[in-house]
Amino acid sequence: MTATVNVLTNGYADERVASSVVLVRENDAVIIVDPGMVANRDLILDPLHELGVHALEVTDVIFSHHHPDHTLNAALFLNARCHDVWAIYVDDDWGDRTDVIEGAPSVSLLDTPGHTHEDISTLIETVDGLVVCTHLWWSVEGPAVDPRAVDQELLEASRVTVLALNPVQIIPGHGAAFSPNDLAR
Ligand SMILES: [Zn+2]
Ligand SMILES: [Zn+2]
Repeated sequence: MTATVNVLTNGYADERVASSVVLVRENDAVIIVDPGMVANRDLILDPLHELGVHALEVTDVIFSHHHPDHTLNAALFLNARCHDVWAIYVDDDWGDRTDVIEGAPSVSLLDTPGHTHEDISTLIETVDGLVVCTHLWWSVEGPAVDPRAVDQELLEASRVTVLALNPVQIIPGHGAAFSPNDLAR
């Protein structure tokens, strides 16, 4: 059992800001991680269509945390359940948080506080190994010290926790996917 991962948009944060937006699929589960700010919504929808997915087919949306740059475009996905650190949201139902995504046994959520107290990382078992979508890193280039972190010490502890899982790839909040080996260089 494994899931597939496609990065729809690589995030960035300079004069302007966009989040990394990621598609995860397993069985009938179609998951978007961080439907955040982008220069144009087509930068989410076009790559999605190229992969044969219509926005209305998205079953689940995961928010890494609550900042607008990671949540702004959630309403593109009208049929999705939304997951965050607290709950699963469906229409007007504020349901209980689960660490698993229904129908996607290879995908799970892990509390990784530091950037905010409400940060979660999405862990995805793929054929190549574990892939982690997380805001514990903005990009492979840094910054090592997160200028917006509510608790840098906690953030660094969360980084250690994630790296101990031996991911093959990390998809950071505002940059291209990288291998943990790239952090050491
Ligand atoms: Zn943030
Ligand atoms: Zn961010």
